[in-house]
Amino acid sequence: MGIFAKIAAGEIPSYKCAENDEFYAFLDINPLVKGHTLVIPRREVDYIFDMEDDELARFEVFAKKVAVAIKAAFPCVKVGQAVLGLEVPHAHIHLIPMQSEKDMNFANPKLSLSAEEMQEIACKIYQEFSK
Ligand code: 5GP
Repeated sequence: MGIFAKIAAGEIPSYKCAENDEFYAFLDINPLVKGHTLVIPRREVDYIFDMEDDELARFEVFAKKVAVAIKAAFPCVKVGQAVLGLEVPHAHIHLIPMQSEKDMNFANPKLSLSAEEMQEIACKIYQEFSK
């Protein structure tokens, strides 16, 4: 099992932001900004565009709900969405609260946040998602 599948299964710890039977959302360990979240299918699939249409549609609808929760927890202009997948071979959507387009630059230095800060951020998003 790959690292993200283990995270979704709870075998590797993560800062949980949202979940349902099929999908899981958690904080990126090297965030570009506070609230930078990854959304994944529990099922192991590498390339997002290998997903079947109906699964991909449900994935995006789940990501939308997470984005709404992120925006409520971390007021921003919009939540940006990006798919790279160059590092981890398990489909994932990056959701990033943006104040400007600069926040979507993956070459930017990453934030260094304490475990307490990460927990607090994840809790805020989880609370909004659960409303
Ligand atoms: P990508 O595959 O989209 O190019 O990059 C993978 C992303 O996953 C990176 O932003 C990286 O910080 C994040 N990441 C890699 N390994 C872990 C991990 O073990 N836990 C968490 N929470 N994020 C990770």
